[in-house]
Amino acid sequence: MKVLVAVKRVVDFNVKVRVKADQTGVELANVKMSMNPFDEIAVEEAVRMKEAGKATEIIAVSMGPAACQETIRTALAMGADRGILVQTDAELQPLAVAKLLKAIVAKENPQLVVLGKQAIDDDSNQTGQMLAALLGWPQGTFASKVALDGGKAAVTREVDGGLETVSLTLPCIVTTDLRLNEPRYASLPNIMKAKKKPIETIAPDALGVDVAPRLVTLRVEEPAKRKGGTKLPDIPTLIDKLRNEAKVL
Ligand code: AMP
Repeated sequence: MKVLVAVKRVVDFNVKVRVKADQTGVELANVKMSMNPFDEIAVEEAVRMKEAGKATEIIAVSMGPAACQETIRTALAMGADRGILVQTDAELQPLAVAKLLKAIVAKENPQLVVLGKQAIDDDSNQTGQMLAALLGWPQGTFASKVALDGGKAAVTREVDGGLETVSLTLPCIVTTDLRLNEPRYASLPNIMKAKKKPIETIAPDALGVDVAPRLVTLRVEEPAKRKGGTKLPDIPTLIDKLRNEAKVL
């Protein structure tokens, strides 16, 4: 069984993101970039499936500029077998990514596509769902457990009221939640081995996909600064502030 994993290059989760002076986006110059944390979980899950003898090949796919090669190399060092880079400097929105993934699915015929539940840069939480809709495949989103059995995948999902388990018929889409697993660190020998694994580079045009954005970003702003808290001397002062300042009583 082939497994396709989507890995996005994003601003590292430790970086304090700053808005560009012209408010058109966030500052990316000289900023550390890494694999989206939910995608690391997706790669880890696929590698565990291969180690358990349930998957035969893992293909890591990334879309974006040439530097996404590094993200694919990280996936290869974690245990993916080969990579596909859909290279473009154009802005890619979730619908475009889903269309590109659909074209790659048609080319590679995987039984399972694993994505992160969301990318920590745009926080869209859309690509997996859009891909499922475009392919007409079942989807298990926010997975905290995936069990493959024959032609089915039992996916336990984190929902508001607790956990829900759905049974999907393969081929299907799974998006990962934080508690699915703890991704491994790539060992040095595996990083070295990953350098020899193949990465195919394709242009969006070659896949026949129009990646033109459908949404326009009007303005990006810093969130409002939080005001500092104060310690009040007694309950009557608190009541007074709630009544006369916050006006909630
Ligand atoms: P989003 O819908 O943008 O929050 O992204 C959800 C998931 O879709 C990510 O965790 C990735 O698995 C995948 N994805 C989104 N954009 C890309 C991209 N440019 N390259 C590869 N995978 C992506």
